[in-house]
Amino acid sequence: MKHISDIKKFERCEKLLWWTKRAPQPFQAYVTFNENILELTLKRLGIDNYLKGQPNNTNDVFFDNEDKYDVFVSTRFEYEDLRVKIPIMVKKSDGYFLYYTYASCFPKESEAQTMADNEWVLNKLGIKVVGRKVSHLNANYCRKGELDLNELLQIDDFLYNDRNRPNNKISSLIKHRKRNLSPILKKMDETLQMEHIEKERTNICTRRNKCDYFDSCFGVKGDTSIYHLVSSSKKFDLYDQGIHTINQLDFSEIEGTRHQFAQYMAAKSGKLFFDKMAVEGFFKDIQYPISYLDFEWETFAFPPYDLMHPYDVLTFQYSLHIEDKDGNLRHEEFLGKNDCRETFIQHLIEHLPKEGSVMCYNVEGAEKLRLKQLAEQFPQYKEQLQQIWERMIDLAIPFSSGLIYDNRMAGMYSLKKLVSIFTDYSYDDLEISHGMEAVRSYINLENDADPAVIESLLKYCAMDTYAMYLVYHWILKQY
Ligand code: SF4
Repeated sequence: MKHISDIKKFERCEKLLWWTKRAPQPFQAYVTFNENILELTLKRLGIDNYLKGQPNNTNDVFFDNEDKYDVFVSTRFEYEDLRVKIPIMVKKSDGYFLYYTYASCFPKESEAQTMADNEWVLNKLGIKVVGRKVSHLNANYCRKGELDLNELLQIDDFLYNDRNRPNNKISSLIKHRKRNLSPILKKMDETLQMEHIEKERTNICTRRNKCDYFDSCFGVKGDTSIYHLVSSSKKFDLYDQGIHTINQLDFSEIEGTRHQFAQYMAAKSGKLFFDKMAVEGFFKDIQYPISYLDFEWETFAFPPYDLMHPYDVLTFQYSLHIEDKDGNLRHEEFLGKNDCRETFIQHLIEHLPKEGSVMCYNVEGAEKLRLKQLAEQFPQYKEQLQQIWERMIDLAIPFSSGLIYDNRMAGMYSLKKLVSIFTDYSYDDLEISHGMEAVRSYINLENDADPAVIESLLKYCAMDTYAMYLVYHWILKQY
């Protein structure tokens, strides 16, 4: 049994399809889909009488009910072992009008290929398509009270280009993408039956996000592998020239970034690279008390509360370790449920010291951004929140900019990685050991406020701020 997603993988790389069937990777959700786009679209269209398909349905379920219903939802069809699911089909006098649903703001023109392939199956089964539209989220929608489906959902007959512009109608995009899938499906079968596939490395392996199977395909070994050379445009060519580790590099082959220089120096010497003057300079303005601050948040596809837009985040937890100039350390924390944004702000303002530095990890894309978003939603607190974000110092920068590099970092600098290298501290024995698991546990609190989960969640967040404290003190010991 094959699905449209298998065709997409196969067309990116046949070995990718082969791997995903042999060694599937766990799916990681980074967003909570707190509403069902299909159900909302049906409501928006005023459709309440329909036949809803089920996962194991055969084609007969549709054909046996064609005379009984005018609307079919989540209907499964199969042809030549390719299975497709059509979100909404509305019967017209001369065929079916299709609605494709997307819980995203800008469904891309590339989706037209999926639509054309779906319609190849329908066409083979004798089902005529007379038109199609997409239902998707309106990025500008701001919730006020109940979800306003007319404002939240956009129903369009065009798709979006890479700059999120609606340039082309779906019908004309599909016209150029119609094709016969039979030979492709046959080749996919042949690929899946192969025992081994030899594949050269190409830019497909590393384009945008590095392929999940890169290490399996090309055997990335060792902390000093040339593949770990950060921001290098030449590392693959270097590998092909027989330079497999960073310590084999000639100085002229690094590309002038601080990070690469640090990697080069660490690999050549086999020791920690630590630019003492630059690190001291970076931390010279730090002031006590130091507030080590970390937030946990969740991204919601559909705005759950007032003043939120699609894909806004809800910050529901913080941990704060406060170190005074005598070295005393104390801890504050907050864990909220439901719409806890204002309580979060008030709690943070009350407990965070009014003076001193605020140390975070990846400030710009995380804690500072979260505070700025909260300040937009609750402008009455803007001044106090700004007073916090203006005191922030990013502990990640000495590592991300190549002031400090240890070969064991293998080109990475997550806080968890640093802690495991530079201290005896470990996250591993905690039940919730990853950020997303923490978030999922929080979501489960909606239904089940298990004290053990709450305790783990609090401990997890506290570990991040304690880890920052440990890493900062490790840095101070290197002076
Ligand atoms: S790493 Fe490259 S060759 Fe290997 S599966 Fe991915 S895209 Fe294909």
